[in-house]
Amino acid sequence: MATVDEGAYADKLIEASLGACDPTLAHTYAHHAGTVGDWLADIATSTGNQALFSTSIGSENTTYFDDAASGSSIYGALTTYGTSKGATYAYSTEVVRLERDDGGRATGVIAKGADGSYTRYQASKGVVLATGAYNGDQDMVRKYIPWLDLDTTDEYSPLANNGNTGDGLKMALWTGARIGSVPHCPMVHFIKGAMPMAGSLFVNGAGRRFMDEGTSMEVIAQTVMRQPGHAMYQVGDAKPSGMALLMMSMGASSGADASAAGTSSAMGASGAAGASGATGAAASGMAGASGAAASGAGAAGASGATGASGSAGAGSASSAATAGTSGAAGASGSSSGSGNGAADPSANLGGSGETYNSLDELAAAYDMDAAVLKQTVERWNELVTKGVDEDFGSNFKIAQTIDTPPYSITASPGCRLAMIGGPQVDANLAVLDDDYKPIPGLYAAGNCTCGFYGPNYPMQVQDGIARAFSTVSGYLAAKNAIAG
Ligand SMILES: Cc1cc2nc3c(=O)[nH]c(=O)nc-3n(C[C@H](O)[C@H](O)[C@H](O)COP(=O)(O)OP(=O)(O)OC[C@H]3O[C@@H](n4cnc5c(N)ncnc54)[C@H](O)[C@@H]3O)c2cc1C
Repeated sequence: MATVDEGAYADKLIEASLGACDPTLAHTYAHHAGTVGDWLADIATSTGNQALFSTSIGSENTTYFDDAASGSSIYGALTTYGTSKGATYAYSTEVVRLERDDGGRATGVIAKGADGSYTRYQASKGVVLATGAYNGDQDMVRKYIPWLDLDTTDEYSPLANNGNTGDGLKMALWTGARIGSVPHCPMVHFIKGAMPMAGSLFVNGAGRRFMDEGTSMEVIAQTVMRQPGHAMYQVGDAKPSGMALLMMSMGASSGADASAAGTSSAMGASGAAGASGATGAAASGMAGASGAAASGAGAAGASGATGASGSAGAGSASSAATAGTSGAAGASGSSSGSGNGAADPSANLGGSGETYNSLDELAAAYDMDAAVLKQTVERWNELVTKGVDEDFGSNFKIAQTIDTPPYSITASPGCRLAMIGGPQVDANLAVLDDDYKPIPGLYAAGNCTCGFYGPNYPMQVQDGIARAFSTVSGYLAAKNAIAG
């Protein structure tokens, strides 16, 4: 397994956050990630599962926890382990209020059960908020990530939409916590319709090429939202694309057309990332389990996060459901590999592989200036013939000229996976008040925090980092809550 220079890795995170993260938290994460990964692996093996770590996907720093071989879930392993330590879990239980005493200490939560009754859970050690992102509350997205256009991006997972309603952020806000500064961190991936990649022509709503199509998802999201129409489209022609030809030459199923090849390959990557759903479930399970904290947190002993989940973990059940299903969604997306026509791009964007006999017709259908679009395609063909992208420095290895009608257009809507943000936490995962002082007994982990990310999801540093951070921060928050 590759070794990682902790300091250099943390520096990358800090740089990717544009200086908006807490550097101490970045270093804390880098320092503890390996230990927490080992802890998770030990739990997997001690509960009859198999922990498979791989560095084969994504960046050199990526580690995937793959329990597919055993056919069971890391969430199941964690709950089995927690139960063996005396933990209990409250399923279908929604935390509705966070409580603090007169001295300001977080003392527990009030939660609503499936039968509509309310229960007060008292925390003997502390409360850890771990309610995930706020995809499901569009007003929050508008407020905290104002540059993201909700009309031209798609909510990717109905589960995230329903379960991630920003409750942790709201409860923290209502109880006097400092919410991290705007803009928060959106995870937006282009995994529907046409998948952007080097060597494919993408244009904005005005018909103009505007970026290196092979750049990172997060940079693409920021760039697209600043383009006319807040959208981008792949333009192709009747010939198989370079990617399709490449895949055919590698023995992939023949007949894949431009976008189909592109999308399925890209979705494959995302599906592979979905494999880290195992880790995600672990993260959520663990963080969620500690989410409601409640009475007797830590009663199960000082064995890290599981100890903290000792009692009453509202959110743990749904937590695993969401994360597990998210991973599965990625995986099934990859196998269905929808390309032209088969995907379901944002209704507002249209363009799912429609074909037109001329660029004039295509431009007219999309309200683009035909002269601009034709100029774009002409320039593209000129650069492809030269074999060098003099305009944006994209890798042109698989680029093809676009000159054979009918011409196709496929929208590439950004998919909202996780709208990340919440109370500002320090390096101990303690929630801060408006004076940057820790609120006694209150911690937060995972996607309902600010402090680890800046305005950009740092996928260029590590694939799967949200799940990794949720795991590590859940572990540390619970440990710190127990330590008091
Ligand atoms: C389709 C998809 C693909 C993704 N792919 C990746 C990937 O490849 N790599 C990666 O790192 N990340 C990925 N993510 C993001 C990843 O799933 C999250 O970053 C991770 O699950 C966050 O963990 P969390 O514990 O903070 O929150 P969650 O996993 O969202 O867990 C929070 C839980 O709290 C529950 N909850 C909310 N409010 C309450 C309440 N009031 N009371 C009780 N419970 C409550 C929610 O229902 C939820 O179950 C993906 C997300 C989606 C949607």
